[in-house]
Amino acid sequence: MLERLKDTPPDALLALIAQFASDEREDKIDLGVGVYRTDDGATPVFGAIKAAEQRLWEEQDSKSYLGPEGDRGFVHALMPIIFGSDATMGGRIEGVQTPGGTGAVRLAVALAERAGVNRVFVGTPSWPNHIPIIEDVGLEAVTFSHSNEDGSADADALIEIVRQGREGDAVLIHACCHNPSGIDYTDEQWDAIADALANSPVLPIIDSAYQGLGTGLEEDSAGLRKVLAKVPDALIAYSCDKNFGLYRDRVGAMYAKVADPAQMGAAMSNAAALARANWSMPPDHGGAAVRIVLRDEDLRQQWLEELDGMRKRLRWVRATLAGADNKVDGVPLAHLEEQNGLFAMLPLNKDQIARLREDHAVYMAGSGRINIAGLTKGNIDKFIAALADVAA
Ligand code: PMP
Repeated sequence: MLERLKDTPPDALLALIAQFASDEREDKIDLGVGVYRTDDGATPVFGAIKAAEQRLWEEQDSKSYLGPEGDRGFVHALMPIIFGSDATMGGRIEGVQTPGGTGAVRLAVALAERAGVNRVFVGTPSWPNHIPIIEDVGLEAVTFSHSNEDGSADADALIEIVRQGREGDAVLIHACCHNPSGIDYTDEQWDAIADALANSPVLPIIDSAYQGLGTGLEEDSAGLRKVLAKVPDALIAYSCDKNFGLYRDRVGAMYAKVADPAQMGAAMSNAAALARANWSMPPDHGGAAVRIVLRDEDLRQQWLEELDGMRKRLRWVRATLAGADNKVDGVPLAHLEEQNGLFAMLPLNKDQIARLREDHAVYMAGSGRINIAGLTKGNIDKFIAALADVAA
């Protein structure tokens, strides 16, 4: 039976990681894999998380099963951060814990399918896992363009596809720090998107994987909140893996906003049944650590400061790249300062990307996506010079 399987191409980014590891040049630069790095190139455990883990170790007296919905305390502690002070919107928002943001996207798409969705609109380029998840659930992915040539978001393309949408359609929207482009909708664009969705049968699925890494914790959720304020129902996929630095602990949550609190039981029981069929229950440890951080005033403050530090560093990298715009012909850098999060797309061709790797030991995805967190005070000048060389 298994001989029927055909090889499937390995994940290109994982291959890049292996190639980077075997490069012996000391000044090599990794702009591939999507994790935050400090100015020393490290991806440390947050101090607030370490403290919470210590407490967990001291106080946790059982690792017995919780249930498919995971740690309710974690799910609820996150809600004011994502949704603001009226976090349940009068009993209309509830959620379940998931294995990372990936599990949350999977659960949101699968729940949409159970509710009768058969097409999902996706702005492209998008996170490379979005379309595979949609298709693996058995839905059709219909693409539209996420951004314009000038580096602005193409809200009109989204609004147009929403206008044409019908019952059975959903649209996947990045809440902030768009992966891979870094190009987010402006406040005015969010208003127009929220209005379009309010007058449409298209179900919004909002993916928030980088809250706090863009312009601010509240600011990064403002668009999502504008949409939720206007639409009857929506699904939200959330990841804590970047903003709490928990990547491999797989920490996320999937929330549903329903039109009437009476529908919540059905939404959550279906979410729990899908979770049960997919992974039974989510890993506990990281979510428990986040719950401890969010419920303790000192740890919460420490977390906010650590997150601020990350965001400030990312803004410094963006400003420094933008400031080098005049040093690199043919690759516009000025707009990077207005964009958000870990990623940016550089308009480089395959040959230029290969030369960056071979001649300069600069590793980036074949799409031209860079993780700007790989740039530091120690290597950013070298990177700019390398870019100028291949772009010339
Ligand atoms: N959505 C987007 C847009 C992402 O970029 C990512 C992670 N790269 C995820 C979801 C999944 O995050 P996690 O690692 O928590 O599964």
